[in-house]
Amino acid sequence: MRKNIVAGNWKMNNDLTEAHQLTAQLVEKMKSNTPNCEIIITPSYPFLESIYRQIKETKICLAAQNCNENEQGAFTGEVSAKMIKSIGVKYVIIGHSERRMYFNENNHLLASKINIALHNQLIPIFCCGEPLEIRESETQNSYVCNQIEESLFQLNEQDFSQIIIAYEPIWAIGTGKTASSQQAQDMHKTIRDFVAQKYGSKIASNLSILYGGSCKPSNALELFSNPDVDGGLIGGAALSAEDFFEIINAI
Ligand code: PEP
Repeated sequence: MRKNIVAGNWKMNNDLTEAHQLTAQLVEKMKSNTPNCEIIITPSYPFLESIYRQIKETKICLAAQNCNENEQGAFTGEVSAKMIKSIGVKYVIIGHSERRMYFNENNHLLASKINIALHNQLIPIFCCGEPLEIRESETQNSYVCNQIEESLFQLNEQDFSQIIIAYEPIWAIGTGKTASSQQAQDMHKTIRDFVAQKYGSKIASNLSILYGGSCKPSNALELFSNPDVDGGLIGGAALSAEDFFEIINAI
């Protein structure tokens, strides 16, 4: 079922005290707000379990920022989907552009991560999006559709129905430069049409597609008012409870 979602990507920010403080502020805000969307936060791995205890009586859900592509074994330093699932986490971000860029994660590796996440009953938030030179050459649609095809189209219909897609143009992440409302809508529609060709219109219309890239209180309303934009994946602005809730309330 298509859901509105606002997910905060905390990245490698916040120590334990700061993470608990931010979560406490969000829990407090939940008491006076009735959000019209699923709210997801993504603390770093070491804090997921204790933050789960802080949010478990609320409607806030947890995502991990990544998972390893293997079920288990000799992969020193890595964290498996099974471990993440075992501590109450519902979602996992897969294919964030920072992981693609700094950790060489390619579409085929990401397909394995998607498979392992689903196998462990985690809901993947699959990130896609083009770099600036692709946008400037006006080939962004085929670039993003290829990311989706190579990482997601191995799934059967039932598994694909679990997926959430986040379109995040790389040139807009952390740069303060947002895609225009029209650019976001055009790409989200392209993605939905592409998914419909493969999985049919029912699955495509039930797919939640989030926008990410310098989304903030001042532009959230305009972005979220597009028919194919079902919420946002928020980086910098998710580190302030005030800003995050202003964005949540824009949906
Ligand atoms: C992100 O990293 O997913 C993101 C959208 O970051 P920001 O909102 O800071 O651009």
